[in-house]
Amino acid sequence: MQIFEAMEAYDYGELHLRRDAATGLRAIVAVHDARLGPALGGCRCIPYDTEEAAITDAMRLARGMTYKAAISGIPHGGGKSVIMRPEGAFDRAALFRAFGQFLEDLGGHYITAEDSGTSVEDMEIIRSVTKNVTGVKKENGGSGDPSPFTALGVRRGIEALVKFKLGRDDLEGLRVAVQGVGHVGYHLCKELHALGANLVVADIDPLKAERAQREFGAEVGDLASIFATECDVFAPCALGSALNDETIPALNCSIVAGAANNQLAQPKHGDDLYQRGILYGPDYAINAGGLMNVAAEVAGYDADAVTERVMGIYDILWEIADRAKGAMQPTHLIADMIAQERLASAAR
Ligand code: NAD
Repeated sequence: MQIFEAMEAYDYGELHLRRDAATGLRAIVAVHDARLGPALGGCRCIPYDTEEAAITDAMRLARGMTYKAAISGIPHGGGKSVIMRPEGAFDRAALFRAFGQFLEDLGGHYITAEDSGTSVEDMEIIRSVTKNVTGVKKENGGSGDPSPFTALGVRRGIEALVKFKLGRDDLEGLRVAVQGVGHVGYHLCKELHALGANLVVADIDPLKAERAQREFGAEVGDLASIFATECDVFAPCALGSALNDETIPALNCSIVAGAANNQLAQPKHGDDLYQRGILYGPDYAINAGGLMNVAAEVAGYDADAVTERVMGIYDILWEIADRAKGAMQPTHLIADMIAQERLASAAR
């Protein structure tokens, strides 16, 4: 792998590597941009076939964190870390202590959080070595499950886009199709149901779809064609790349607004939505509620202040839609532009 070439391709500033022979730690910290403050982002601990795959994974996601923090007005940069999960048996506590020492040695330049393959317990172990960690237990000043905050932010984003596109002040009787009713999708359904919206849901786990049916009177839609459901809002809350060459022509909605990360399979799919006259709520702007929650741990956690900030996602989505209309450009480009303006105006 040509490391500097890869860093250039992902528009990178820094990559930090740490090997610890005693514990088998092989870890990567990717700091995409730290102009707005210490980089903040999750730590993955999963098996990787190659070092290249691990480095690429770390770099791939941190750029999104930079943009998410910038557009949300959070004083953090974007980072991500990866621990290459050792093969066979290993001492997990020792591994995460060694990782914590790595973060301590980075002096607060990168602050970690939970991600795939890591847990609150792992964050607690890291915390025994360094304070550069979030996502610890509530009793230790942690912020708990971010999903309800992410869902609240998505609901506020939907309210803004509904007002902007449909001229409506409420969600009563609005039809929303939700793809994926896991942690965030479930809480989003709860929010929308409380405001009188009608729901259609689909999830590869039938029990989750049934729970939304039981608790919120949701209709259970077809898994393969949920994106084609006739509705006002399509909310992708499952995996990335939900908006692609196959799904966009089939969409039967006015607005796309959901929690999933990396919803556009490629940037050009944002243009395709625009061409179809569908208003898209850029993923990293609308799903920033969870990041707002976790970032609040760094400054001293205050749930009311976090809720207020997350409610403000309405204004962020409104600004994006409004500027996009004025510039006659797609919303994903305008969101990038706003984030880049904030990054450029930050002191170096
Ligand atoms: P989750 O794993 O709890 O939920 C995802 C759900 O999608 C699961 O119920 C799964 O069964 C379902 N699913 C998977 N593939 C599907 C498919 N093809 N069709 C329909 N359903 C499918 O994850 P989550 O925490 O709810 O996160 C959902 C998305 O939001 C992810 O993309 C995540 O990266 C993003 N996100 C989450 C948060 C958060 O606070 N949890 C914050 C920001 C972004």
